[in-house]
Amino acid sequence: MKQDKACRSCRYVLEEGGDVCPICGSNSFTTFWRGYVVILKPEQSEIAQKMGITKPGRYALRLSR
Ligand SMILES: [Zn+2]
Repeated sequence: MKQDKACRSCRYVLEEGGDVCPICGSNSFTTFWRGYVVILKPEQSEIAQKMGITKPGRYALRLSR
């Protein structure tokens, strides 16, 4: 099973394909991450604000490498 990639810089999880993070423009990803949160409305989400997330999407909670 193919593991989704998470951006090392902003933790955004890429669903598939793509080599550049649509959120921060980074091209550095890791497949070693655990857990995620789905942010639908960053402006209304306490978690999003704590994590510094400003755009909707799926974000990894922990990057292990
Ligand atoms: Zn990113």
